[in-house]
Amino acid sequence: MAISKSPKDWRPATRMVHAGSIRSQFGEMSEAMFLTQGFVYPNMEAAEARFKGEDPGFIYARYGSPTAAMFEERMCALEGAEAARSTASGMAAVTAAIMGQLKAGDHIVAAKALFGSCRYVVEDLMPRFGVPCTLVDGTDYAQWQAAMRPNTKVLFLESPTNPQLEIIDIRRVADIAHAGGATLVVDNVFATPLLQSPLQLGADCVVYSATKHIDGQGRCLAGMVLGSAEFIDKHIHNFLRQTGPSVSPFNAWVMVKGLETLPVRVAQQMRNAEQIADFLAEQPQVKRVLYPTRKDHPQHDVAMKQMKGGGTIVAFDIRGGKDEAFRFANALSIIKISNNIGDAKSIITHPATTTHQRIGPVARAEIGIGDSLLRYSVGLEDVEDLIEDLRAGLAAV
Ligand SMILES: *Cc1c(COP(=O)(O)O)cnc(C)c1O
Repeated sequence: MAISKSPKDWRPATRMVHAGSIRSQFGEMSEAMFLTQGFVYPNMEAAEARFKGEDPGFIYARYGSPTAAMFEERMCALEGAEAARSTASGMAAVTAAIMGQLKAGDHIVAAKALFGSCRYVVEDLMPRFGVPCTLVDGTDYAQWQAAMRPNTKVLFLESPTNPQLEIIDIRRVADIAHAGGATLVVDNVFATPLLQSPLQLGADCVVYSATKHIDGQGRCLAGMVLGSAEFIDKHIHNFLRQTGPSVSPFNAWVMVKGLETLPVRVAQQMRNAEQIADFLAEQPQVKRVLYPTRKDHPQHDVAMKQMKGGGTIVAFDIRGGKDEAFRFANALSIIKISNNIGDAKSIITHPATTTHQRIGPVARAEIGIGDSLLRYSVGLEDVEDLIEDLRAGLAAV
């Protein structure tokens, strides 16, 4: 006789399809989109109980809504986290994860190699509120250690980093954070929840831009903050409720449906990326390929230790400079020039003139973003078509 398991024993792909579903009295198959600002109480006593927190129902969509709750539950099931809160964008999640923990007089330590907007939050925004930030080379653990001060409260990193796919040892940085009485926040966008589990590596909080692989078809913005129930309750819950970067029910619904296909999309995009990284590495017009699970990646050992795969993004330097990189990208036809990642459509980006233009040439040089660097987010197209497209680019160099 078959014994059916409880949802928490399901394997990840099963959780992605079923976890967190809330069915209305109509028993709809596909998750419903609850497009409502608020909720009706049966009587005054019920309204009072709900506001007092004695009844767990919904109050107001800025605080939470059934569609956002499904998205949060499904993300918790995927990440193995106790609690999560959804946000309007990845940057709202990053800002909440950092600001929610800090007050004037505290100090942040962050890796230099960050997504441009993340770098703005730690480097420009937080110091305006009396929270200075020390930026370190994320792969130099002596620098993390040396940057710690008695008032250091938050360490922040991305791994793999955007765009040069540097791998930072999450366990080592978590140990430094905890020894100094600080927490570690990890932006796990590039790895996706399927290929790396920062909470299990010692991080206190993990953040996502769901805009990327979780949507996976470039439709909507959303974000997610995950951690222990205590962490979310203490630092995130009230910050998000009162400041209001809530996800719209429509966007949350798109993400809930996106999660159902995330494992198959990421697996196929990663197979394409692995093949493309190996192809590019053999081309004379390519100076260097960066892909975490290739043996020639500078932090290959750390990648193999903490990741289940190299991900869906390949970075590479064309021989030459900006002109050669532009000629290459302008000659592509299937692979689009844009700046999203994780999309079903292949996307190429020139970080020096777009996503990392703001930080200037000196800061770019410090984190290895040269004028010949291209970031390729590999899509779901047939890999043979993608390789033919890349050949056309290389011929134009
Ligand atoms: C895109 C991205 C973000 C920001 O997410 P949005 O949804 O665009 O606000 C943060 N971190 C990383 C690594 C990203 O790639």
